[in-house]
Amino acid sequence: MTAVIASLLLGLSGQAYHVPAGVSQALFDQEKSFFIRGNPKLKQVALSIDDGPHILFAPKILEVLRQNHAHATFFVVGVKVQEHPEIVREMLADGNEVGNHSMTHPRLNTVSQEVVAQELTRCRSAVEKACGATTWLLRPPGERYTDEVLQTAKRLGFITVAATIGAADYIVPGDHSWTRGNPGYQEHVNAVQEAVFKQLKNGGIIDLHDMPTTADALDAIIKGIRQRGYKIVTVSEMLKRLPVSRRA
Ligand SMILES: [Zn+2]
Repeated sequence: MTAVIASLLLGLSGQAYHVPAGVSQALFDQEKSFFIRGNPKLKQVALSIDDGPHILFAPKILEVLRQNHAHATFFVVGVKVQEHPEIVREMLADGNEVGNHSMTHPRLNTVSQEVVAQELTRCRSAVEKACGATTWLLRPPGERYTDEVLQTAKRLGFITVAATIGAADYIVPGDHSWTRGNPGYQEHVNAVQEAVFKQLKNGGIIDLHDMPTTADALDAIIKGIRQRGYKIVTVSEMLKRLPVSRRA
């Protein structure tokens, strides 16, 4: 019975997806288990949000997603998952996807492969404990990785996910206390929105962060993306729609 419940829960965030041979190397690198970008023929973009769950901003972000009937892929940090497992459960319950962003957010290119493996498996365990779902998508902190890191992640069953559209939304003066009303805040919100719109491209993977500015920018970002004719999908939805060459 417990096994049945566990597998039902696992189903919430989807099972690991095996990308078929015959998908172009420019989109998915089988050797490195590295997802580079989505189908260039489809007018869709994936929305990913790193570094959460933050107690204040993740609920705001979830609310905006809900209001817009949009779903995102959250790359979560294990120690934050331990602090707020209820937010991770809420992410999944809303139909979002949860991926791995390591346990403590070190630069994975600067630590040993043993530490890389620990960081990924500890975050995976934290998520499993929080919600019963596993993580099989990885976004390395700061997008720092080496070929060795990708191999370690692959060995542990991960697909590492690139980011093709960044908005420097994490660059804020001071810390998370910088919010509405502070000088320059609204300008930063606007700049984040414009940065996303400027880089929109078929198969793009947008990389945003669990931040006050992003929480405030997200509604206009989602609406603006759709006004420009793009569909918003999760990373795994995008992976499943990669074109497979018939010659393979
Ligand atoms: Zn990060």
